[in-house]
Amino acid sequence: MKKINRKNFLKKTALGTVALSTVAAACGTSEQTSTDGSPAINTGKKYRWKMVTTWPPNYPIIGEGLEKMAGWIEEMSSGRMKIKVYGGGELVPPLESFDAVSSGTAEMGHGGAYYWAGKAPAAQFFASVPFGMNAQQMNAWLVSGGGLELWRELYAKFNLVPFPCGNTGVQMGGWFNKEINSLADLKGLKMRIPGFGGKVLEKAGGSPVLAPGSELYTNLERGVIDATEWIGPFHDYKMGFQDIAKYYYSPGWHEAGTTLELFINKPKFDALPKDLQVIIETASLRCNNWMLSEIEAQNSLYLDKLIKEKNVDIRYFPDEVLDQLRVYTDEILAEITASDPFAKKVYASFDEFRQRAKAWAAVTEKVFYNKLQK
Ligand code: CA
Repeated sequence: MKKINRKNFLKKTALGTVALSTVAAACGTSEQTSTDGSPAINTGKKYRWKMVTTWPPNYPIIGEGLEKMAGWIEEMSSGRMKIKVYGGGELVPPLESFDAVSSGTAEMGHGGAYYWAGKAPAAQFFASVPFGMNAQQMNAWLVSGGGLELWRELYAKFNLVPFPCGNTGVQMGGWFNKEINSLADLKGLKMRIPGFGGKVLEKAGGSPVLAPGSELYTNLERGVIDATEWIGPFHDYKMGFQDIAKYYYSPGWHEAGTTLELFINKPKFDALPKDLQVIIETASLRCNNWMLSEIEAQNSLYLDKLIKEKNVDIRYFPDEVLDQLRVYTDEILAEITASDPFAKKVYASFDEFRQRAKAWAAVTEKVFYNKLQK
């Protein structure tokens, strides 16, 4: 296939202002190539893709953001690419999204990388680990600190290409029906807290319970569980926890800035024309920012609502409790990195970045919060 320099081509024609589609038609069926050899420029081929997700259908902000992203991709591609977004369970069960995209049943998926820790222990570093990094630091590590390259390397083994696509910001610690004044109060505590956070609670003598979001309200109301975490004021308010729990604890030590992910079937992504690849990447980054911004804006409104309208009692975990949970987290991290070489490699990058970000924040962000915006 012959490489054509479009700019020169346009200059040489008497029809410099001719519509690009006409130019494409004039080029016949020959497909142009980009500098890296992938197919480039509008070949006119239409793509109709499916996106499976781990979230309930039409989930506020997250599902909404994915619908927006599908719209942006359709607009930027002038309708060449249309994506239908499926809620969890509509096409495949929520936690089968990863396998569905890996096998090509669907072209795209959206979730949180920590859901796949059972398949790849290193995956959780790309979503959230307890006492990890906040949204700003996660974005900096992924985009500019080498995190995304490691993520791509890991997911390539599963036939997938990942992109950061949303972040919850610092989550809340959860809703409790008993006060947490010391470590002893965690002993025997039945709490819905998934994944890594649940393992930490277990080390503290608690009983982590796994239950889907739809069952949490009833479980907490009936005393099947003593506590539950979810996300933050906006999403928690919608669940109604304020009506059945006494205390709302801060901070979400287990999820300080959870990155959400878009993952795409690799052969299908690689076969796309270059411009569509860039359009998807651009839309995903916009979505990454939109979800974080929207959650931040809504959380501040709903925290106010919870306090003023619902008289919610905000509590803070004592330092003694947080310090010990950090010790248990480090023990679990040591176990994961000892048994999985790729997790060791990712954690080395993650932790090195976190230490530098922490030192930088100590002289800037921390001072900002303590002195400028106190
Ligand atoms: Ca959570």
